[in-house]
Amino acid sequence: MIVEGPSVLMTLPPELAAVEGEVIEQSDEPLSSDDIDQHHAVEIRYNRRYPNRLSDGIDSIVVAEWDDDQYLINYVGYDRGRLIATDDGIARLGSELLGDRDQVPKWVIERRGIGGKLPWWVPDGYEDGREVACQTCDELTPVGELLTPSAIGEQPICEDCWENSRYTR
Ligand SMILES: [Zn+2]
Repeated sequence: MIVEGPSVLMTLPPELAAVEGEVIEQSDEPLSSDDIDQHHAVEIRYNRRYPNRLSDGIDSIVVAEWDDDQYLINYVGYDRGRLIATDDGIARLGSELLGDRDQVPKWVIERRGIGGKLPWWVPDGYEDGREVACQTCDELTPVGELLTPSAIGEQPICEDCWENSRYTR
């Protein structure tokens, strides 16, 4: 189902609430990657920090240029679909998802367009490729590969140390 125009009725997933009021078109069917201009597409991935918690939201969002001042937001996961939003909407989404200053952030840029540059809507404070030390082995690890299990007080731990600690417990 595609819903168009100013009276878009479908509820937005909570992760995309920042684009409210800036949606031009909405559908509950995501596009396949063949239908997306990959040249300028950027993928943002939910950083699953809690190993024992099931994901009930969006796992991955691809943002791509669509038309003049319009952007495609294509999302998959438990919630899936696509939006066409204004550039204001995409700026708000970027700052909502990537302006997160937690030591291990909730969202990370997984993949950039072919040009490799970060797009204008990524907030200035976003630290690309940031690494944080694992609390067990002390190894500097990309924030996208760290877990913060509540069992250890949400301290960052690398996936290897977490696996080892589970098997020796
Ligand atoms: Zn470790």
